[in-house]
Amino acid sequence: MSDIAYVNGAYLPLAEARVSILDRGFLFADGVYEVAAVVGGRLIDNDAHLSRLENSLRELRIDNAPPIQTIANVEAELVARNGLSEGLVYLQITRGASNDRDFGFPSGTTPTIVAFAKKKNIVASPAAETGVKVLTVPDLRWARRNIKTVALLAQVLAKQAALDAGCQEAWMVDRDGLVTEGSSSTAFIVTKADALVTRPNSPAILPGCTRKAVQSLAAREGLTIEERGFSVAEAYEAKEAFLTSASNLVLPVVSIDERPIGSGAPGERARLLRSLYIEWATKPVATR
Ligand code: PMP
Repeated sequence: MSDIAYVNGAYLPLAEARVSILDRGFLFADGVYEVAAVVGGRLIDNDAHLSRLENSLRELRIDNAPPIQTIANVEAELVARNGLSEGLVYLQITRGASNDRDFGFPSGTTPTIVAFAKKKNIVASPAAETGVKVLTVPDLRWARRNIKTVALLAQVLAKQAALDAGCQEAWMVDRDGLVTEGSSSTAFIVTKADALVTRPNSPAILPGCTRKAVQSLAAREGLTIEERGFSVAEAYEAKEAFLTSASNLVLPVVSIDERPIGSGAPGERARLLRSLYIEWATKPVATR
């Protein structure tokens, strides 16, 4: 983690960053967050992240957060103060701390805003070369997964199950046997007919910012995209699989439940889309 964090208006050393034990984020997971990548000292695709943040706040009726431009300024300032050239910025907004633990919304609280930064090799990522292994697990989450809340326990357990099985990501599967998404990423497969398949946006998944950008880059390349659910069985038979997220951009998936996907090596489409995404994300916005 980088040294300087942000808490409610103050930039301070991470070790001194504190919130109240009565904060509703801590007590009820009553809050939302965003993670945006930094490459070349710039936040990547951050307008998309900020607009999803606004949507998450609206969905949870946290209506007295500062204007989104103020939030954007905090993120940029955090990048500058940490001298971050490549990595991630995490930002969380909760409904705040009141003086009691009532389930109903308290009146008169102000949202708690915290942010911190982390150095990470995002572009020159070893996982992009090797690909990642995926384990499928039941999707145990609630019904409003399009909101990016800090209620992440199902994803924590899913990711740990994957790690315990020697994998790097979990793909969660709904009651109909269809993959919803990764524990912290969007899931894609490439069919034998060369179509990119990913689940359509709905309350069943988080609308991935990277997913959206990758879909338009794929369309620009003339690739076929099918927005539909796909089963675990279909994924096993896919020509390729990959995942997308702000923290990993595009990563090839080389096995699912220990079955090699395609040749068992990173696929051609995943490699292409990763390089197109990096090129797009690092260009000045006006020239994209
Ligand atoms: N789905 C879930 C459940 C996630 O946590 C994430 C990571 N935020 C994603 C998808 C990917 O979203 P994005 O591309 O916006 O990082």
